[in-house]
Amino acid sequence: MSVPHAAGRHFLQIPGPTNVPDRVLRAMDYPTIDHRGPQFAAIGKKCLDGMKTIFKTASPVVIYPASGTGAWEAALVNVLNEGDLVLMVETGHFATLWHKMATKLGLETEFLATDWRRGVDPQAVEDRLRADADGKIKAVCVVHNETSTGSTSAISEVRAAIDAVGHDALLLVDTISSLASIDFRHDEWGVDVTVSGSQKGLMLPPGLSFNAVSGKALSVSRASGMRRSYWDWSEQIAANADGAFPYTPATNLLYGLAEAIAMLHEEGLDAVFARHDRHAAATRRAVQAWGLEVLCQEPRDFSSSLTAVLLPDGHDADAFRAGVLKKFNMSLGNGLSKLAGKVFRIGHLGDFNDLMLLGTLSGVEMGLSLADIPHQKGGVDAAMSLLNDK
Ligand SMILES: *Cc1c(COP(=O)(O)O)cnc(C)c1O
Repeated sequence: MSVPHAAGRHFLQIPGPTNVPDRVLRAMDYPTIDHRGPQFAAIGKKCLDGMKTIFKTASPVVIYPASGTGAWEAALVNVLNEGDLVLMVETGHFATLWHKMATKLGLETEFLATDWRRGVDPQAVEDRLRADADGKIKAVCVVHNETSTGSTSAISEVRAAIDAVGHDALLLVDTISSLASIDFRHDEWGVDVTVSGSQKGLMLPPGLSFNAVSGKALSVSRASGMRRSYWDWSEQIAANADGAFPYTPATNLLYGLAEAIAMLHEEGLDAVFARHDRHAAATRRAVQAWGLEVLCQEPRDFSSSLTAVLLPDGHDADAFRAGVLKKFNMSLGNGLSKLAGKVFRIGHLGDFNDLMLLGTLSGVEMGLSLADIPHQKGGVDAAMSLLNDK
């Protein structure tokens, strides 16, 4: 590698992959065992049952050795048929990628636009469903936390919008950057398929992804769905009954997953969510003190897992990020697609504490000076006073 060694811990403050805690790394540093043997079945069970507690569901959770994108595809191909109409909401880059995938799979789509500075408008979903009197729309697909913009959507309100019309569409939700960081309730909120991934709030390396599946989604998938093999739920769920998988699971990532689930419960999910809320609030304090703008314009949609910050016109966010990486050994998230060069993103999710946040914000504040970006000092102080509040 041509990049020379930099002393000390790298600050991985992109909104995923996130910092993997030592406990998870140590848990994965265990010999790979027979995935059909009795010892592994217990680990498989622990992960499958444990993930139900994270999704807050009594229904099955399917675990794939795949990135989050794989679980997006699994959700679509198990419950939809070619030519079906799906309603999606363009909250940002990730919603756009899921939409593109739906199109590639032969689904008809309607893509409700936003300005990429807020979450889903439940009223817009309700209005569109109300106009669909003959029930052509088969699914509503939304991203819970839009990682490209730092905007969170109120999933319970999207559910309420579907119920207000009495529409039969399934509700599919991407929680890749919200699960285990921002409260999510698969059963209570009537979600049919929840999609997630390992490398963000779950504090694991990339490589695992998930579908939590409602009873309704399961029966729809049994009756129809697209041609599928690798992603098919039925074989997974049948094998999972004994803690087994229909093909070789990602053994060592599952050791890590069992450890991560245990850690989340030791801290308590509510405490985990409160920690994320507090770090996000402190980050916004800092941004405000710098005199910069948070991309998300709707306070109720502010994300607790990341903050996207707009730079003043004429200043390149990528040059700023490159300076921060070189001088302070910290990676910040870039602006994606139409936000390229305009915003940087601070990831404050996963295995993260007050002093890590202050280190992160110090790096940003010094980086702003380094890149000659007009700002006021005092962002770190502002964050500190929030964090230090007794
Ligand atoms: C990261 C992310 C994805 C993509 O996941 P991959 O693991 O890169 O395939 C999809 N949706 C959201 C909201 C994300 O944050």
